[in-house]
Amino acid sequence: MTAGTADVIGAGLAGMAAALALADSGYAVRLWEASPAAGGRCRSFNDPLTGRLLDNGNHLLMGCNHAVFALLDRTGTRNELMPLGAEAVPLYDLEARKLGWAPFSLRSWWQRGASAFSLGDVGALTRVLLAGPGTTVAACASAGVLWDALTAAVLNTGPEVAAAAPLAAVLRRILFGGPGSGRPYIAASSLGQTFAEPLLATLEAAGAQIRFSCPVTALHCENGTVTALTAGGSEFEATGPVILAVPPAAASRLLPGISFPQSYSPIDNLHYRLPAPATLPGGEPLLGLLGGQAQWLFLRGDVASVTISAADELQTVAADELAERVWADIAPVLGLSGMAAPPCRVVREKRATLALTPAVEASRPGRHAAGLANLRLAGDWLASPLPPTIESAITSGLAAARDLVQDAATRFPGWASQVPALRLSRS
Ligand SMILES: Cc1cc2nc3c(=O)[nH]c(=O)nc-3n(C[C@H](O)[C@H](O)[C@H](O)COP(=O)(O)OP(=O)(O)OC[C@H]3O[C@@H](n4cnc5c(N)ncnc54)[C@H](O)[C@@H]3O)c2cc1C
Repeated sequence: MTAGTADVIGAGLAGMAAALALADSGYAVRLWEASPAAGGRCRSFNDPLTGRLLDNGNHLLMGCNHAVFALLDRTGTRNELMPLGAEAVPLYDLEARKLGWAPFSLRSWWQRGASAFSLGDVGALTRVLLAGPGTTVAACASAGVLWDALTAAVLNTGPEVAAAAPLAAVLRRILFGGPGSGRPYIAASSLGQTFAEPLLATLEAAGAQIRFSCPVTALHCENGTVTALTAGGSEFEATGPVILAVPPAAASRLLPGISFPQSYSPIDNLHYRLPAPATLPGGEPLLGLLGGQAQWLFLRGDVASVTISAADELQTVAADELAERVWADIAPVLGLSGMAAPPCRVVREKRATLALTPAVEASRPGRHAAGLANLRLAGDWLASPLPPTIESAITSGLAAARDLVQDAATRFPGWASQVPALRLSRS
């Protein structure tokens, strides 16, 4: 006997985490997804131009992403996340042609980088860690390549306008979260093999029905409760929990009259197919780049992928021209100076995340914002101490599911209730 039917709208990581928690609680889950595939903003695709399986964008995870690891333990794919060798990321100064390290724990800061940081940096770090809700990063730390790069990477927003508080939340977890908190991880083979594929298989094994290319276009409500939804042109009765795990623009269309934040920041990713596998200075598959257009360089076999966060100013630059400019940055780093740019797939995510200014940060809604008894919102854009990331997406999906399972006095699964981040999520 099931606990009833539950509907989850959106098969991104928030929606899939919520769907799995509900399925494990005994619900017959229907998961509705508008696109033909799962994963949302964290997905892989076969690219005919490079002939390779590519990720829409390189994703960096950290040892302190407890919700991510809890979910991967449930799907049995923790080993699909590959740790980098140390709690420090190699950084390459493109102008000085010099390799350094960004320490991601107090221990490695002491071992590797203490001498590279000035008293000014330590003062800026202290001000960021103590920053109040209305403060920008720029008000705490004066401009410089390191703070610019860190802010763009963590908040996907330029330091002059970015809110300091979510950066502080991430830094606190990294620096004071215990051993391994600062260790960076990347998908060993692809985002799809790490997240969407095992999640779908686990959901199917738990009895969930997944409907692709089936956008939900209307929610029907009576007496403050969702009673039915229109999906793929047909109406379906909703008798139990409903979790709306779609981006803010889609949530606004389904819940007219409620205003959600609509200010986004883009991320550009460029995937170059190299003539042969390469290695990077520092010996890791990841290299931070300072002083150029390219910010992060990831290597997977013969594919070199560049990430440019907070890429607002590049959105008017044609993809071909951007590929040429970025190649000029990375060719010397790859030992390929003088070679013409190889085939390059440019993926531009215009709405990669919210643009995390203090005003937008303050306007991130709670998961009860729709005011409907059996509906909760989920997604990386909802209120959280953390910036919009995989960790906040999964955390919010689990928090939404937990609310509704507890309402029905059903047992919430152990793997999901042990996520320490849940205690931090604002509702
Ligand atoms: C290029 C890029 C790089 C990133 N790098 C990092 C990183 O390094 N580290 C990190 O932690 N995070 C990173 N992120 C952020 C991370 O990808 C997101 O935080 C996370 O994937 C958001 O998941 P979500 O489930 O909240 O939303 P989404 O992934 O947007 O999922 C929403 C889903 O809802 C579906 N949908 C929309 N409307 C409807 C409808 N009407 N009916 C049914 N379905 C609907 C969509 O198709 C989508 O599948 C990056 C994002 C991008 C784009």
